Amino acid sequence: MTDYAPIPAAKGCRDTPVLRERGQHEVFCGLTGIIWLHRKMQDAFFLVVGSRTCAHLLQSAAGVMIFAEPRFGTAILEEGDLAGMADAQDEIDREVARLLSRRPDIRQLFLVGSCPSEVIKLDLARAAERLSGQFAPHVRVLSYSGSGIETTFTQGEDACLAAMVPVLPETEARELVMVGALPDVVEQQALGLLGAMGIGPVRVLPSPRAADYFGLGPNTVFALTQPFLGDTHAALVRRGARHIPAPFPLGEEGTTGWLAAIAREFGVDAALFDAVTAAPRDRARRAVAQAAEPLAGKSVFFMPDSQLELPLARFLARECAMTPIEIGTPFLHRELMAPELDLLPAGPRLAEGQDVEKQLDRVRGDRPDLTVCGLGLANPLESEGLTTKWAIELVFTPVHFYEQAGDLAGLFARPLRRRAALRLDTAQPPAALAEARR
Ligand code: SF4
Repeated sequence: MTDYAPIPAAKGCRDTPVLRERGQHEVFCGLTGIIWLHRKMQDAFFLVVGSRTCAHLLQSAAGVMIFAEPRFGTAILEEGDLAGMADAQDEIDREVARLLSRRPDIRQLFLVGSCPSEVIKLDLARAAERLSGQFAPHVRVLSYSGSGIETTFTQGEDACLAAMVPVLPETEARELVMVGALPDVVEQQALGLLGAMGIGPVRVLPSPRAADYFGLGPNTVFALTQPFLGDTHAALVRRGARHIPAPFPLGEEGTTGWLAAIAREFGVDAALFDAVTAAPRDRARRAVAQAAEPLAGKSVFFMPDSQLELPLARFLARECAMTPIEIGTPFLHRELMAPELDLLPAGPRLAEGQDVEKQLDRVRGDRPDLTVCGLGLANPLESEGLTTKWAIELVFTPVHFYEQAGDLAGLFARPLRRRAALRLDTAQPPAALAEARR
């Protein structure tokens, strides 16, 4: 068979033992997924059933978005609910009825579980079923958990998408489903590339509107654009759909590998594949080479955050000449990560989960040139003289596919450039400073 995109093999990390740690961890809960999901799904509303803490988290994570009549809110459990004095199910019914009467634009309503709702064993699945019966066909009500007990950060998206899979209708059609919430501009680029190769019809999960939903069945094939979608993967497989294993579309190589896997599945002619991808590949390579200049030869340490760590480390190692020392991830899905593990050069420690003090000891021992970590650890590490990259930006910035490959390298290069600029501030003439700040 013709190989569309020969990607040079690495020694691989498939057999590298994984350090599994449990203990104190510094991560977001899955409620944060609502911030990007509600923008993507234009007729959905996310109603968190939780405490004031959950409402505060959403308000601070959403920043200025809370002033724009967002499509999420918190039904706050009061003491009476927690003590079992009120019938919480009746209250949910009342809240939902009030919300839907005010907002006729809502076509999908997600009841989102939190730590408090889980601790008091509030059955949101039952509530969703009952309310769906009441408000169908105009509104579909579903439930999932975004609690800190069950989910870490991006796993909230996974739980949400997995909840949608069982209610999609049956179909015998041979269709490709692209799974994962991407910024609109990135999604359009991906659909453009697939369309130019004659691959279609392509469906997207999550779809922007409830009316765009499609069927699933034994002829459905799907490709994941995000690495944290393990439960959605399992739910799709249960519906008879078949997964196309591939590296994730981050960087030039990842994007080419991802497209090539789908092209192979659809029997795309190798010459057509090359014709469609040659120019954007070249653009991506040149953009990465320019942006990644400060990264070459530097070491990087990933603390666990989003499950994007492995594909990002692969991109930094292979396309930006960095050396990953440790790659921490909140959860390592061996099957989904197999193509990434094969592409990673041998050498880094792989860690799943977190015991934050132990991991910080390793960071201090290794003194990496760049540490990718959460907001809570970044400033303390900076004050110890370590250069950090806030992991959250990697989730909120468009980074997938060819046209964003240069920006992705730039996100990692920026803190190194800034540190060099600050160091130069006192020591160098203005021309060198301007160059460093470029
Ligand atoms: S779901 Fe749990 S971890 Fe998340 S904000 Fe609410 S209480 Fe905190």
